[in-house]
Amino acid sequence: MTIAAVRTHRLSAPLHTPFVTALRRTTTVDTLVVELVDSDGRSGFGEAPQVWQVTGASIAGAEACVRELLGPALAGRDADDLQARCAEVRRAVAGNESAKAAVDVALHDLAARRLGVPLVRLLGGTALRVPTDVTLAAGDAVDLAAAAKQRRAEGFTVLKLKVGTDARGDLDRVRAVRAAVGPDVRIRLDANQGWTPREAVRVIRGIEDAGLDVELVEQPVHRRDLDGLAWVSDRVDLPILADESVFDLRDLVEVIRRRAADMVNVKLAKSGGLHTARTLLDLATAHGMGTIVGSMMESQVGVGAAASLVAAYGTSAVSDLDAAWWLAWSPVTGGIRYDGSTVLLPDAPGLGIANVSEVKVQRHG
Ligand SMILES: [Mg+2]
Repeated sequence: MTIAAVRTHRLSAPLHTPFVTALRRTTTVDTLVVELVDSDGRSGFGEAPQVWQVTGASIAGAEACVRELLGPALAGRDADDLQARCAEVRRAVAGNESAKAAVDVALHDLAARRLGVPLVRLLGGTALRVPTDVTLAAGDAVDLAAAAKQRRAEGFTVLKLKVGTDARGDLDRVRAVRAAVGPDVRIRLDANQGWTPREAVRVIRGIEDAGLDVELVEQPVHRRDLDGLAWVSDRVDLPILADESVFDLRDLVEVIRRRAADMVNVKLAKSGGLHTARTLLDLATAHGMGTIVGSMMESQVGVGAAASLVAAYGTSAVSDLDAAWWLAWSPVTGGIRYDGSTVLLPDAPGLGIANVSEVKVQRHG
């Protein structure tokens, strides 16, 4: 079976609630969906989300990478040789992890569809339900407490608070959320690089001393400041989770070498696809690090692939797969759904995304 066509679809879908972090504020998911069509007319989908502030990837850049390099390299090639095709994608271009991830996932989706099995089965698992946390957008303590109560009422049991916008107020924010939801909800923090190392230690020790029962703290300091990350990790008890500091295997090796973090957040749009993501999970586990899988703000295509990875491989803590939950409506037909804090994988071939004619595309100018 050969790859007959490579198509790209620019999607922009509104969020029901603005998504605010220490790095950015957004009210839409803007993303490129890549569609690979085989010689039998089956389609496989993958996604390259546009996140200027984290990956630097844009829709235009990902589309150029797919149209000018990755697509022509795949056209006419044997789609059944999945590992070889994915290896070619990884070697074809420097950087461009999001575009590579989109094509890598589309190749996997297509392979699973040809076998007639869900993507999780192709990856070696069977689970169709995956627990997720839900993010609370950065805001003041009163807004965060209200949002936390609402999410609790909607069935979420693991809350991820976006902090790092103002170190002096962060302890009060966590205190307000803990008071609002009581002791039975898990609380984790993501500072998105927003603190200096000294601020991070001060805030985290304050949280520990106040007994606020926080599970972990994600990316407290700048992604390139691995010495600072290690300095923080040395001085606090709470587990430190590296996110923006770890894109690929070399990044993780460096974090391990410096003992800079206790855990890693693996994302397809950072790692360049399922193959490297699996290796990152294995490498972290082999070195005694904890793991979660997350996503950028992306649609049911990318989150479905990340959830399938978790369903097959597992992570040491609850993963971070709520991105598509934020969408006011789904820009694709089919794929994952949410039931409270559970991601439901479709019992359908591949990612269960309908073919492109049913994709609701809202084209950019
Ligand atoms: Mg993060």
